[in-house]
Amino acid sequence: MFRRGFKTWCETTATEKRRALRIPVTEALDPRLVAKEMRVAVRYIEQIPDLAPDTILQLTVNDSTVWSALTVCHNGRYLVVLNSAHPKTREANTLMHELAHLIIGHKPARLDITDDGLMILSSYDQQHEDEANWLAAALLLPRDALVHSRKQGLTNEEAAAHYGCSVQLFTMRINTTGVDVQIRRAKRRTG
Ligand SMILES: [Zn+2]
Repeated sequence: MFRRGFKTWCETTATEKRRALRIPVTEALDPRLVAKEMRVAVRYIEQIPDLAPDTILQLTVNDSTVWSALTVCHNGRYLVVLNSAHPKTREANTLMHELAHLIIGHKPARLDITDDGLMILSSYDQQHEDEANWLAAALLLPRDALVHSRKQGLTNEEAAAHYGCSVQLFTMRINTTGVDVQIRRAKRRTG
């Protein structure tokens, strides 16, 4: 599904981001910190002043069923626009997902330009969506964070709350990284 080496690159990138921001793997990584470091502005749609009605319509109504965030480029600067109606755990993942597209360097298949001169990056292809999902999950929950959670004896719910993500995301990461298997093996060796 992913190009060779992509998953390893995600784990490395996740580790490096935390190191750069001085956030230990034992703590949650706030996607807004990552955005700040990348000089990407983050706003709720209600916080953007003077948007033309057409723009608001395009940002919200046209994609109302699916939209959780949109990345917009204005005067060479990126802005992630979030849907304020979504729960915080989902919002964290959503924002990290949008940042992941930028970190990987994805080029959107379509660029819409509104009357306000905002460039809306949209229509990433499915491969790009899968890659952004994978990197976002790794950034929020790097492998060492999963190991830490298990060693602390946290339930999936407790660990998800600690790292500010959904239980679903935590479970997905546990299942796809093989951390439980790794810990069981380590225990067998030492026990
Ligand atoms: Zn996306």
